Amino acid sequence: MNIYYAPPSQVHSQFVELTGQEAKHASKVMRAREGDKLTVVDGEGGRYDGTIARILDESIQINVKESDRTSYPHPEIVLGLGIIKKRDRLEFAVEKAVELGAAEIGLFRCERTVKENVRMERLQSKALSAMKQSLRAWLPDIRLFDSPGQLVDHYPDSNIYVAHEKINPDDPENRADGISTKSPQKMLLMIGPEGGFSVSEVKEMKDRGAKVVSLGPNRLRAETAAIAFLSQFL
Ligand code: SAH
Repeated sequence: MNIYYAPPSQVHSQFVELTGQEAKHASKVMRAREGDKLTVVDGEGGRYDGTIARILDESIQINVKESDRTSYPHPEIVLGLGIIKKRDRLEFAVEKAVELGAAEIGLFRCERTVKENVRMERLQSKALSAMKQSLRAWLPDIRLFDSPGQLVDHYPDSNIYVAHEKINPDDPENRADGISTKSPQKMLLMIGPEGGFSVSEVKEMKDRGAKVVSLGPNRLRAETAAIAFLSQFL
């Protein structure tokens, strides 16, 4: 099924408009023709099935045959991720977070992040492709914060969990697999960068009510920890 993205501003009562890369991809790469069926998602839960009515230079108009709306992701999980130095690994982590249902992604600088320049537009396009590929209709926002604390403060009254490899994995108290998803509040899962969280950063988050959890005895790469954490809530 060919899935394309159009922001809500391009969803009109009777038709949806593809523009930019999405229109180019449909007409040039997929050689779409008038009458072809396709599906459009608007990144905010809307999904529109229809057929191509007109192919113009810069846009494609789709007549909507049927549409539905998927509710906001539940449990509402925000993945907090320290900026991973290796760009392809950071992009991989963002892509997996979208596939695994994160509602939002917060990247943060911390004491042990090495690299500063996050290429946001690349990450956003990775998230867009992952949304379409995983047949989601919700496009997670990706935000950048200057510290773990600033990220935590951006999501007040969330249940905060900090994945930390320095706590005892055998203590049942520290296990991450018993986390309840019953509470209506957002869940904020915090994963450190390659260098991990500093002691003061863990304290800073604990002071804000965070629970520190273990993901087992092995030392996981940040992107693996993100996948391990998120997969528990599928
Ligand atoms: N610098 C650390 C490793 C950090 S791994 C060291 O050398 O030991 C990057 C992040 O993945 C960590 O900050 C943590 O959030 C997460 N992580 C990795 N392994 C983990 C584990 N076994 N339990 C919980 N979190 C883990």
